[in-house]
Amino acid sequence: MPQVALNVKLIETTQNPVAVLYSAYRQCYSAEFAADLLREDFKKQEEFVRKMAGSGHESPLEHVKFTFAVEGVSRVLTHQLVRHRIASYSQQSQRYVKEADFDFIIPPSIEEDEELKSRFIETMSRIQTDYNKMLKALIEKGRTHEEANEDARFVLPQAIETKIVVTMNCRELLHFFQERCCARAQWEIRDMAWKMLLICRDHLPAVFGNSGAKCISLGYCPEGERFTCGAYPLKQVMLNRKYTATE
Ligand SMILES: Cc1cc2nc3c(=O)[nH]c(=O)nc-3n(C[C@H](O)[C@H](O)[C@H](O)COP(=O)(O)OP(=O)(O)OC[C@H]3O[C@@H](n4cnc5c(N)ncnc54)[C@H](O)[C@@H]3O)c2cc1C
Repeated sequence: MPQVALNVKLIETTQNPVAVLYSAYRQCYSAEFAADLLREDFKKQEEFVRKMAGSGHESPLEHVKFTFAVEGVSRVLTHQLVRHRIASYSQQSQRYVKEADFDFIIPPSIEEDEELKSRFIETMSRIQTDYNKMLKALIEKGRTHEEANEDARFVLPQAIETKIVVTMNCRELLHFFQERCCARAQWEIRDMAWKMLLICRDHLPAVFGNSGAKCISLGYCPEGERFTCGAYPLKQVMLNRKYTATE
């Protein structure tokens, strides 16, 4: 039952995303048929998409999707992830997959302290023993393996490693990055969001080149004095700014 690390892989994305987005955006403003609008070369299409994606006209971004496979994450992370509703998820089941030798995630604050880390690992090991005993007892009582997994899992920790496949369209990804790439987001989902963002930037810079935490698009930090990371001025500071003709 080892400690494991985050792994994010892009499985699939819409083919020719720039062409898809270009035709979707152009259809909104053209008398011509979308299928006939792809005469421009790639660079021109990309430039148009970049301009439109930054304009606040977001619904055409729903035509392009990204599917990621994620492993080496805790159920703490996936519980937060699945709160994002405009997405599709397929997560490893604890009914069908027995956790007879589970892996786990150790938070950095515990990892860096030898004593806390060894206490954490001991706890994982004790839970593993209890879970295995519970499974055995339930099977001896006549439960099927699936029924035993289903009930024994109630003793498992939130730190347990899980795997999940997630699909989001570009509009939802931009929103997800705004929320979860912020320094205020919980460290584990923030690490995953940043990995996804870098993949998206690489594949579709016209949409994701300027995306990230919400302060990037807002131009200020909405988190307030207590929580701001300081990368952007606070909203109140922006509101109180005096206009001067030299600006
Ligand atoms: C830093 C941070 C701390 C958090 N802390 C807590 C917490 O303490 N407790 C807690 O319960 N949650 C917490 N959350 C989760 C948060 O409340 C949301 O559930 C989560 O961020 C999902 O995002 P969302 O609802 O904006 O958008 P998504 O579900 O990703 O949907 C995207 C957008 O679609 C629109 N949309 C989706 N569904 C609807 C709908 N039914 N009606 C209208 N519009 C809709 C909204 O515009 C929404 O922003 C936290 C999130 C963050 C980032």
